[in-house]
Amino acid sequence: MMTRTSQPRASLHTLGCRLNQAETSMLGERLRRDGYRLVEFGQPTDLLVLNTCSVTEDAERTSRYVIRKTLKHSPHAFIAVTGCYAQTGPDGLKKQAGIDLIVGNQYKLDLPSYLPPSDRLQKRTTPEVHRTKAIARDDFELDLYAQPDSTRAPLKIQDGCSTMCSFCIIPFARGQERSRVLADLLREAEQLAAQSYREIMLTGVNIGQYRQDGADLCAVIRRLEQIAGLERIRMSSIEPTTVTDELLDLMASSPKLCPYLHIPLQSGDDGILAAMNRSYSAGEYRDLIERALRKVPNLGLGTDIMVGFPGEDDEAFDRTLQVATDLPFAYFHVFPYSPRPGTAAVKLARPVDPALVKRRTAILMARSQAKRLAFHDRHIGRTVPVLFESGLQEGYCAGTTGNFLKVAVPSTTDMTNQVHQVTITAASERRAIGHITPHASRTATLPVLSS
Ligand code: SF4
Repeated sequence: MMTRTSQPRASLHTLGCRLNQAETSMLGERLRRDGYRLVEFGQPTDLLVLNTCSVTEDAERTSRYVIRKTLKHSPHAFIAVTGCYAQTGPDGLKKQAGIDLIVGNQYKLDLPSYLPPSDRLQKRTTPEVHRTKAIARDDFELDLYAQPDSTRAPLKIQDGCSTMCSFCIIPFARGQERSRVLADLLREAEQLAAQSYREIMLTGVNIGQYRQDGADLCAVIRRLEQIAGLERIRMSSIEPTTVTDELLDLMASSPKLCPYLHIPLQSGDDGILAAMNRSYSAGEYRDLIERALRKVPNLGLGTDIMVGFPGEDDEAFDRTLQVATDLPFAYFHVFPYSPRPGTAAVKLARPVDPALVKRRTAILMARSQAKRLAFHDRHIGRTVPVLFESGLQEGYCAGTTGNFLKVAVPSTTDMTNQVHQVTITAASERRAIGHITPHASRTATLPVLSS
């Protein structure tokens, strides 16, 4: 058996959602502790950990491509695949050459325990598979905390979903909804604050369903607000049916909870929403957004829209376009419908012609770009607090406001992890441009985050 004397290299790659990104960071931290040297994805490596997505066929295709690409520059690399594709499509993955280990979502964060010793990573003729058919419905504690590589640290509070939207594979890939033990997530948040992370993003599959130890999402936010040093608490995507008035009031009054909501619309047509098994109407969605805008000044608003769901005729699409146009979104993410094996929607009649799906996607994306520009334009002349996060690039430092406006400021110094008041002077579709307002400035002397 070949043994290695130098420090083994590990490369990690994530496809899909923010939750996957958070989990990949945790796996990276564990591998680092186990003696691996982390190298950037795309560099020669001894181990690739691929955290996959199965929300679309495209994501699965990308997983296969990433493996082939890695084996080209690192033909002896041990390939470990985990995540939603490993959970829902292990048989397909087993047929792909070059994979050595497949770990389903139940065991994802234990993946390093299933690796051979780091000095004995050997390619296998057939992959070893660790996967359960169903995912246990337990509340969970995490014994791994990651060192996030951005100023915005993801904090996982929840996993799984029990909603069963007819197009969605997530309930199969990640199991029923379950929440993280409250004391455990508060401990991680305190550690992040102690390490100078100023913003955390609450992540999960359906974070509005957080219920644990007598606490719901609002209670979690109130507890997090008390942590000294944490300045911003941001929510990732949240389902419309879980956005309560209590949450909106909290957002309106909280000095820390960011005025930002990403609330998936999916469709503006009631027939399509019903076929998707979404439990709200387009009118109820509009009412919610209007209520949120009334309560929370300067709200940054994003959404997801699905195009080409079976039965989406011209009238249904027009209704979606109308809702998307009428409401003051800052942007929307547009997803062409992709039939996922095992979901209820695959049995639905009246598929939409792919060429039409492409045209509708393009229309919505163009509308989203116009919305983004309008959102950026609305800020011209205003002075806003910006948390800088990107280092110095091409003479600019970039960061975000609480309502998720991306702002760049010409600079000769790296202001990463500092907050400054910035007056916005110009805007493009990509970002707003501004200058630091000297007297309103609040600089920070916190250490620059290490990755
Ligand atoms: S709410 Fe619907 S779309 Fe979102 S994860 Fe659950 S089943 Fe999927």
